[in-house]
Amino acid sequence: MTKPEYGNVTVSKVTYDWYKKNFESNKERLRKKGINSFAGYITSRLEELMERDEIFGRYAPFLEEFGYDDDGSTVYIKDNKKQRVVGVRFNGDQLVCDVDEKNDCVHVGFAYSLPKVYRAMESLGIKLNRRQLVEPAAKAHSLSQT
Ligand SMILES: [Zn+2]
Repeated sequence: MTKPEYGNVTVSKVTYDWYKKNFESNKERLRKKGINSFAGYITSRLEELMERDEIFGRYAPFLEEFGYDDDGSTVYIKDNKKQRVVGVRFNGDQLVCDVDEKNDCVHVGFAYSLPKVYRAMESLGIKLNRRQLVEPAAKAHSLSQT
């Protein structure tokens, strides 16, 4: 029987197999992060998604995905509060905002929540830390109350 603090979900075989394969081929790396089981792996992936969905929900609709430059090094975000387009670019191992000239403003947080940016970061091995996720979200929240 399922323990009360857990829930079950049934997914398609294709989805299951894809994640299972991913888990198996990254077992060593995941173990170092403290993830020792397939269930733990799925939970961690869903937690990442949860964070991104939460950020996206807080920033929209005042920030919008606007476009990408040709080489994919910059994502353009339409800031409906500032009424301008803001560029967030990959700079070494981090994302930096061209307008605020920092790596932890609302635009960087929003960029991170975009699947295309997130996938690019993942393939480059770039991880945004939790501080960068939490702080801009909090600022965005206070802005939306004004
Ligand atoms: Zn910014």
